[in-house]
Amino acid sequence: MKNDRGSLMRPTPLPESASRPVVTPLSPSVVYSSDTPDMLDAQYDGKLHGYTYSREGHPNADVVAQAIDRMEGAPHMGVMTSSGMGAVSAVLLGLTKAGDHVIGGNQLYGRSLRMMSEDLPRLGIETSLVDPGDVAAVRAAIRPETRMILVEVVSNPTLRIADILGLAALARETGVLLVVDNTFTTPRGFKAFDHGADIVIHSVTKLLAGHSDVMLGYVAARDADINTRLRVFTVTTGMTPSPFDCWLAERGMLSFDLRFDRAQATAAMLADHLAGLKGVRRVIYPGRHDHPDREQAAILLKDQFCNMVSFEIPGGRAQANAFARAAEGLNFAPTLGDVGTTVSHPASSSHRAMTPERRAELGMSEGFFRVSVGLEDPKVLCDVFTAAVQAAAE
Ligand SMILES: *Cc1c(COP(=O)(O)O)cnc(C)c1O
Repeated sequence: MKNDRGSLMRPTPLPESASRPVVTPLSPSVVYSSDTPDMLDAQYDGKLHGYTYSREGHPNADVVAQAIDRMEGAPHMGVMTSSGMGAVSAVLLGLTKAGDHVIGGNQLYGRSLRMMSEDLPRLGIETSLVDPGDVAAVRAAIRPETRMILVEVVSNPTLRIADILGLAALARETGVLLVVDNTFTTPRGFKAFDHGADIVIHSVTKLLAGHSDVMLGYVAARDADINTRLRVFTVTTGMTPSPFDCWLAERGMLSFDLRFDRAQATAAMLADHLAGLKGVRRVIYPGRHDHPDREQAAILLKDQFCNMVSFEIPGGRAQANAFARAAEGLNFAPTLGDVGTTVSHPASSSHRAMTPERRAELGMSEGFFRVSVGLEDPKVLCDVFTAAVQAAAE
């Protein structure tokens, strides 16, 4: 039998076209074939750019990484991971060794807190959790073994603002890395590298991808060597995301600016609306005059106060249930940054492991809700909240 092209397995050459696609092609190929062993050698040596095996990197990951690099002003190509926690893990596990010490904000994302309190100590890495709005307290926690400070700009779910400029100055002075998880604020709200961050982390799952259909993370370091160490660690531990998820994220990010601006404008409106309702005890929004860190917010965020609003209604679980039941069309879901508004109830979800006393200390009662504002008609959204707050008060 004649061994024609058709009897070979792959790849089938694409039909010729003088014109090009306007959408980034999806490249699910796990392996890439090189012409010669010399060429492969040159690729592994970094003398020739080329993909080899997709755990080591693939075009769809690089396209998304470069898009976020441009938004963040990252000096080297960032690393994509299969979730935001992958990015957090790469930093906390990939850059530390037994005997080191790590400082974290005391209101970090729940899983990051868990890694700080469970996994790092198990590996011989000591941790301290400190209020990131209190630079003196962070300074007091620094030891000779301290390697890094991990903070979020806006805390979850009480939306307090970290003193990033103070922490950056402290980090420089003491030779400690400042790591900023910029998920809530996004590069549109806050340019972390410009404010002194050494490493920037994103859960791309949230606002950047924006449609709750992709899990993805991003991490980039100012220092080339640290950036390379992060990349090598994610490749070794298999944190590489799938090309399809990267492709979806790229698609979602095309509308990120528009989504962010719209959600933010509605959030500001909703915050004021909630504050005017009789059945609402307290509203927390960094753009409001009554926010406890109003000045810090204005310095760091300028006028980009983002899409997260928290509020509190009086009463206990019964009132919280009544609110949730009456809030028609809102998803009660422990996430944020979706095109649709989501509401979370920290006492029964993200902060359920905390004692009620500790929650009370942080200002999180049974009537405390966190809202991630989406893209609905603002007027309709305000009406839904009005009805639900009224129902809870009855
Ligand atoms: C969601 C989130 C993470 C974790 O991201 P995943 O993509 O869910 O793994 C980390 N930090 C913050 C601030 C988050 O909101």
